[in-house]
Amino acid sequence: MAEKKEARIGVFLCHCGTNIAGSINIKEVQDYARTLPGVVVSDEYQYMCSTPGQGKIVDAIKEHNLTGIVVAACSPRLHEPTFRVASKVGGINPFRFEMANIREQNSWVHMHDKEGATAKAKDAVRIAVAKASLLEDLFPKSVPVEKAAIVVGAGVAGIQASLDLANAGIPTYLVEKTPTIGGRMSQLDKTFPTLDCSQCILTPKMVDVGRNENIILKTYTEVEKVEGYIGNFEITLRKKARGVMTPEEAEAKGIVGGGCNGCGDCSGVCPVIKGNEFEFAMAPRKAIFIHHPQVVPNIYTVDFESCIKCGLCVEACGDKKAIDLEMEDSFEKIKVGTAILATGYELFPIEKKAEWGYNRFENVITGLEFERLICASGPTGGHLVRPSDGQTPKKVGFVLCAGSRDNTGIGKPYCSRFCCMYSLKHAHQIIEKIPGVKAYLFYMDIRSFGKMYEEFYYRIQDEGAKFIRGRVANILEDPKSRNLMVFAEDTLLQRPVNIELDLVVLASAVQPSPEADTVRKLFGVSKSADGWMLEAHPKLNPCGTTTAGVFLAGVCQGPKDIPDTVAQAEGAASAASIPIHVGKVELEPYFAQCMEEKCAGCGMCVNLCPYSALALVEKEGKKVMQVTEAKCKGCGTCGGFCPGGAIHMQHFTTPQIVAQIDAFLLGGEQ
Ligand code: FAD
Ligand code: SF4
Ligand code: SF4
Ligand code: SF4
Ligand code: SF4
Ligand code: SF4
Ligand code: SF4
Repeated sequence: MAEKKEARIGVFLCHCGTNIAGSINIKEVQDYARTLPGVVVSDEYQYMCSTPGQGKIVDAIKEHNLTGIVVAACSPRLHEPTFRVASKVGGINPFRFEMANIREQNSWVHMHDKEGATAKAKDAVRIAVAKASLLEDLFPKSVPVEKAAIVVGAGVAGIQASLDLANAGIPTYLVEKTPTIGGRMSQLDKTFPTLDCSQCILTPKMVDVGRNENIILKTYTEVEKVEGYIGNFEITLRKKARGVMTPEEAEAKGIVGGGCNGCGDCSGVCPVIKGNEFEFAMAPRKAIFIHHPQVVPNIYTVDFESCIKCGLCVEACGDKKAIDLEMEDSFEKIKVGTAILATGYELFPIEKKAEWGYNRFENVITGLEFERLICASGPTGGHLVRPSDGQTPKKVGFVLCAGSRDNTGIGKPYCSRFCCMYSLKHAHQIIEKIPGVKAYLFYMDIRSFGKMYEEFYYRIQDEGAKFIRGRVANILEDPKSRNLMVFAEDTLLQRPVNIELDLVVLASAVQPSPEADTVRKLFGVSKSADGWMLEAHPKLNPCGTTTAGVFLAGVCQGPKDIPDTVAQAEGAASAASIPIHVGKVELEPYFAQCMEEKCAGCGMCVNLCPYSALALVEKEGKKVMQVTEAKCKGCGTCGGFCPGGAIHMQHFTTPQIVAQIDAFLLGGEQ
């Protein structure tokens, strides 16, 4: 337990330029702080986080023999670690530091009430001093880190992250729920703004993944359970029954020279035909299938939902004996030090915006369906045709912000960020491929923010695409010609627009998939108001999460294009490799401690702990609660609940909290 010292507190007030000093009378708060019990020095500085600012803390600790530090500045989320280091450099325990937020929670919201803001700053400083007087020395716990990582989701983000980790010498499990890696990027034809072929740049990376000795590829696999904590995650994987064995799996079963070699003979004889999901059912597949020729790994999969178990495929496979129609899901437990989530996105179900006729009118398609139709390896060999009659369209409309930037409660309020650019790309592609075609883009604004993106926008304008600024109100179909009547408003010319088109492409909003949300919850990662996974800090820690050791890459954190996805994946891989290379991590010492003499062994707290950190154990003939400190996140649930007051919450002890409440309620009168 911590050693008790007579409180000698130093208070430091930050101006943050005029961010704080513009709305709060710093001098007045500084003078007030000097009057508080235990305060021996009160100082101020323009920018406390700067080197001279931190130097003031270091010097004051030495000069005044301080036992505790209060900095009144910005949010602790921003600079608590900075001032902890300064406290440590000065020679006191870094957890004898308390921060009073007088910027985000004060000056920024009370900028027109200097008197009120100054009074509130005094309250915040007084409360922080009350706590700082009771702070104790705490010591972070060091735990070893398993030399392995997991990446969940094998789109371009997951592929890049796992290649980086593997190339840094870290054994990496790459877990993908579908039978192949590649994600959405493998469905794209060309990529903006350079217009290079998506498959040409992705396939070599996919092949590298398959070959890399440090990557343990787990396709058709999902995360079932996550236990443990940074450095020591124990993860249960569910390997879905694929019905087909890899050569390694066959060898393990004693089938010499067997296992799937991707020859496709089985698929040739299979009588069951289904829509190929990769082609959005615009092409068929069999019940035993691969989605496309570039799949990694090149292993077939049985779709047990449609398989009629006729056995023809088993016969066709012959001596390779790769097919096992009785295969069942299997489970495997792995241990990793860090994790990267890269679960990407799915399209918002745009049929919910009924006015645009998706799923009612065959010639209304999504951007991803367009990608497959224009792609040389797609269902039409790259000839863009109308789904209704196979004719080449001559007038094509692109509806931007379809379901994005939508505050009606049906769509998504956010911008999906890559649909302006891919719609420009789509317009270019049809102008290039179909002589005399007319492309109409219905837009709200064009967001061409990336490198060479604005230039790409000009290029498409020069190529003759027509831009109509306004939302499409309604689309109707002529049942005879199957043409589409598009009703919109041109807000620049301030007049209604009615155009008859052959084909309409909806740039649908994107959203996280339900499976991605399951993974998010398993890893204890929060989500932001818009549903995407929440980063630890939008500016200072965009790849991290509030769960130590878990990082984010790609669109699962929010819509972003391929360059930004790859950049974030590289960042996440770098961040995830640090604890592994260091070999140990320090855990913040904010965990619960059981005061065994007070514990009645009722066990009620055990099920309340959201992190499974508590267990009842037998000690000297008595049941008492035990905390696994490395698992405890210091959330305080057990501490707040325990009827016997048997739980000591480090850094948030009952006396500390009571002192804060007293300091607030009693004002300056304590
Ligand atoms: P994804 O590609 O979605 O990959 C996520 C992977 O995770 C998938 O393989 C998925 O199956 C897997 N997964 C999901 N949940 C789980 C789970 N629970 N367990 C295991 N695996 C899971 N960007 C450009 O820069 N240029 C372009 O030209 C371009 N064109 C586009 C055109 C269209 C029509 C669209 C819709 C997007 C376009 N984009 C373009 C954006 C591009 O698709 C994304 O930036 C990129 O695909 C994001 O990659 P990702 O790995 O984050 O996600
Ligand atoms: Fe601004 Fe915070 Fe730095 Fe002060 S410590 S200058 S409030 S960022
Ligand atoms: Fe694989 Fe056998 Fe089918 Fe060939 S016939 S693709 S080896 S499962
Ligand atoms: Fe197709 Fe199933 Fe028959 Fe094999 S057993 S050929 S997968 S229907
Ligand atoms: Fe709309 Fe463009 Fe944002 Fe997509 S990227 S939601 S089309 S503004
Ligand atoms: Fe019960 Fe409290 Fe002991 Fe938990 S710590 S078992 S709630 S007495
Ligand atoms: Fe569990 Fe929270 Fe108690 Fe820690 S403080 S043991 S995480 S309930």
